[in-house]
This record gives sequence, structure tokens and C-alpha cells, in this order.
Amino acid sequence: MGGKAPFTVRFWGVRGSIACSGPRTARYGGNTSSLEVRCGDRLLLFDAGTGIRYLGKTLTGSRIDGDIYFTHTHFDHVCGLPFFGPLFQPQNKFRLWAGHLSGAMTIKRVLAEFMMSPLFPVPPEVFRSTLEYRDFKAGETLAAGNNVTVRTAPLNHPDGATGYRVEFDGRAICYITDTEHVPGSLDRNVLGLIKDADIVVYDCMYTDEEYRRYVGWGHSTWQEGVRLCKEAGVKRLAVFHHDPDHDDEMLDGIAREVQKVMPGSVVAHEGLVLEA
Ligand SMILES: [Zn+2]
Ligand SMILES: [Zn+2]
Repeated sequence: MGGKAPFTVRFWGVRGSIACSGPRTARYGGNTSSLEVRCGDRLLLFDAGTGIRYLGKTLTGSRIDGDIYFTHTHFDHVCGLPFFGPLFQPQNKFRLWAGHLSGAMTIKRVLAEFMMSPLFPVPPEVFRSTLEYRDFKAGETLAAGNNVTVRTAPLNHPDGATGYRVEFDGRAICYITDTEHVPGSLDRNVLGLIKDADIVVYDCMYTDEEYRRYVGWGHSTWQEGVRLCKEAGVKRLAVFHHDPDHDDEMLDGIAREVQKVMPGSVVAHEGLVLEA
């Protein structure tokens, strides 16, 4: 009787901007953005950074009817897509969603233009799965079936980006990257989207001290993540989109500080699974 349906987020890539391998980043991981959200039997993937290749290896052989939601199409969030094995299996079906594009630019076109010779040897036609491209406007609510609702909001990022809130079984997991804050003024779009959420994954590329050197680059800080989460009544913050220059030791330090000011919060690392 009863019991909560499984509702989890698993991190396959937690790094911002560019993948960074090597011993200094080995514990938190060097792969770029890739999240796997499970709502009961439903599979929702967020972004296709280099981490998605490893996720794909765990899915081979199964028959997948899933969704891939892009926050945006900067390279670190799409470059893993051609290496996602399940796209080459004809029994699978994926819907590819993006809400930050406008005009003649569509998610289908962006992916076709990045998978184009001589930048890349083969076009998206090499994929064997059934693919549906779904453009929407950030701010819309997307019905995802099986009692899953995906709410969205526009973020403050060069070329635009979309924040996501997945609601399932009375709980909510939010994915808010890439986005820049305005110091001293909490982003109302973000506050609205993350209200009372159980888990918020947030763009914590910098510290507040570092941020002063990167105004206009489109990213935020872990301290701003804490301020937003506290204001919105969020249970747990997951520090995410780590700067490639932030080594394991530095991220350990941030993890200690986040714990102090917002107990239960974490610095995301590859392989981490959080349950809402
Ligand atoms: Zn990014
Ligand atoms: Zn970006």
C-alpha cells in the first residue's frame, strides 16, 4: 500500500563550458551537462553534453520512449548527442524539445547545422530511432504523459535558455542552467519556477567573488542559488555547471559552505542520484 513512486535525478555530466578530464577533476567529474530524470516508468533526459554518452551505455537493449529537453544549444549542451547510443537503435523513440529558439531557427535546424561536414562527418539522418522535433516557447507548460508535467521559464543567457520544472506525484525537480543573475535582485522567472520545489539544480559556475570578473558571461553563483532557493522555499539545492577550473578540492570547499547555509544541499558529481 502507498509509498511514493520513484522520482529521481541522476547526474551524468556536471561540468560547464567544456569537458575536462584528469586527476584534478576526477571525483566530481569532467563531463558536460547531462541529467536523467525518472518519474516512475517515464524517462526524461535534460541536455546532451558529453555525459550523455555514458548514460546511453546503460540503456542499450531496452525499448525507449523518451524525451530529451535542451536548456539551450550551446555546444557543451549538445555535443554528446551524436554519441548517444540509443539514437542508433530503431526500436527507440525520442522527442527533442527546445524553447529558446525563435524565428526560422528550430531545434531540428540547429542540430543539422552542428552535425555538418566539415565540422562533423555525418548528419542527423544517421540516427535510426524515430525522432520528433518539438519547438516551444519558454514559459509554456508541456504535458509529458503518465502524470508528469513539465513547466518552463526563460532564463537570462546569451542566445536564450530554458529553465525546467518537472512535477510528478506531488513533488518537483527543477533544472535551472545556464542563467545569469542580477546582483541584489532575485530573478522572478526563476523564483516562480522553483517555488516550493524538492530539488533545484542550479547554474553555480562561479563564486560571488569570481562573478565580478564575468559579468555578462551568462552564468550565476552558488551563493545566488542559495538566496533563490531560500526565498522560494526549496528543500535542496544541487550546485551544478561547475567551472572547468574548479578542481575537486575547491568543490569540496563549496560543498562544506553550502551545507552550512542550506543543510541537505549538495555539490553535484557524476553518478550522484537524488530522490525527490
Ligand atoms: Zn553551459
Ligand atoms: Zn550556455
